[in-house]
Amino acid sequence: MSKYYLSLDIGGTKTSASVFSENGEIVNNYVLKRKSETFKGKEAVYQNTKKVLEDILAKLSIKREDVTAIGVGSPGPLDTKEGIIIHAPLMGWENFPIVERLKEDFKLPVLLDNDANLGALAEVRCGEGRGCKNLIYMTVSTGCGGGIIINNNIYRGSHDGAGEVGHMSILPEGIDCPCGSKGCFELYASGTAINERMKADMLAGKKSLAFELADYDPDKIEGSLLLEAASKNDEYALEAYKLEGYYLGLGIANLLNILDTEAIVLGGGVTKAKEYFHHSCISTLKERCVHRVDEGMLRYSKLNDSVVLYGAYYLCKDGKN
Ligand SMILES: [Zn+2]
Repeated sequence: MSKYYLSLDIGGTKTSASVFSENGEIVNNYVLKRKSETFKGKEAVYQNTKKVLEDILAKLSIKREDVTAIGVGSPGPLDTKEGIIIHAPLMGWENFPIVERLKEDFKLPVLLDNDANLGALAEVRCGEGRGCKNLIYMTVSTGCGGGIIINNNIYRGSHDGAGEVGHMSILPEGIDCPCGSKGCFELYASGTAINERMKADMLAGKKSLAFELADYDPDKIEGSLLLEAASKNDEYALEAYKLEGYYLGLGIANLLNILDTEAIVLGGGVTKAKEYFHHSCISTLKERCVHRVDEGMLRYSKLNDSVVLYGAYYLCKDGKN
């Protein structure tokens, strides 16, 4: 009888799940996605999460007894050893014992890790980082999250706090960050940062096709418009991505100088524009990295939306937390 692994990706907007076969394939290539029911209270959010798992098993006609373990990816901060989500304000979860609850309800082993850590694990096992011993994975979307692989395993740090790449300060007196620091990397390199720069530039009277596409309405400004403008050779958009590549390069150079990994894999929505920022990012890396930088060190995820689900599968396969 075949054995399965159940993967769960709890996100601020949506929660998704898939079932993996023993050899790491998504059964029927099916991923169940559902709204996370945020702000409905901690119990309602948990019940919704639990139902996502029940529903995918029902949909694929897989019995709980045929599942080996459940792997869970969640935004941090977490206590992975105790299986606790320490703080998830959107979910209403404070010190929420997600592992214990799922164990009780499904009578299965449950393993928990940070979503960016699982992204890194997926990339090194079956993605663009395959064959690397040391790897950095970074998502560039609303914010910037990171996962670090050292000697083929997730590096979690001493308090489950490693990989907070979004909060390395790249400007000592830069923009105030909600984390309490200033000039944090994600305030310059994330998708949110790109949108904020676009709004400011539009209000300052700069010209771009992206602003025309947004009807000059700051509320309609979004990354896809900048990408469309860049594809039509809009000068502002091309410069905006050059600047994005520069900021990404600043942060990545710091990481490579400290960790000296074989590669860094970027994921997240902003990477849809990779062809427009890649060159500028590589030039910045070449200027700022102490060691030699090859173009092939900067890679882009192909696992996309499923990256955390794959990571949750490998977490269970490894069987350690
Ligand atoms: Zn910060």
